[in-house]
Amino acid sequence: MSEVFDGARRNARETVGNAVVKALRDRGFEAVYAESKEKALGLILDRIPRGATVGIPGTVSVRELGAIEALESRGCIVYQHWGPLTPEARLQARMNENAADFFLTSANALTQDGEIISIDADGNRVSAMAWGQGVLIFVIGINKLAFTLEEGIRRARSASIPNALRLGNTTPCAKAGCCVDCRGVSRLCRATLILEAPTHGRETHVILVGAELGY
Ligand code: SF4
Repeated sequence: MSEVFDGARRNARETVGNAVVKALRDRGFEAVYAESKEKALGLILDRIPRGATVGIPGTVSVRELGAIEALESRGCIVYQHWGPLTPEARLQARMNENAADFFLTSANALTQDGEIISIDADGNRVSAMAWGQGVLIFVIGINKLAFTLEEGIRRARSASIPNALRLGNTTPCAKAGCCVDCRGVSRLCRATLILEAPTHGRETHVILVGAELGY
């Protein structure tokens, strides 16, 4: 019986995924649907040549795919700021990420109409999505889909809760379990980007994955 449910869920995700891919293409994104994490990783590697530099900001989705290890094993130079770095080294890593040949990231939400929503505390990720020299690649799990822009922004903010817990941050939402639109110094939601289309001249790919990725 579970095979029947799995098949029905796979088909439903593919139908929704292909509709969203069409909406993204109508907006000028180079979008494709991947039915599994393995296929998504293959599509990433198809787009990034051996030896390229790749910036990977704070993204659980990309790390869950094993993309960093796969890229490094192909001779790519990966810049990332996660890990035990000095403040100076972290700042340099962020600048390297944003100047790399490719910027590989996820987003916090994607609407059915093809709008891509991201919220940052520091702004490094949304600034690289909005402007940069390198090719921009999004990989987004189907769990991040939202019906409307308003729902997408709400969903994007909700990602701050597990992020706060991961970072040991004492945001009010980490205690309450929901957004209270806080005002304190611990606020994580500080810069919101809604990409309605690729910015002028920017090659922008979206790989929508028919599996849960990130949060
Ligand atoms: S409570 Fe603050 S940090 Fe948490 S989701 Fe809301 S605005 Fe963001």
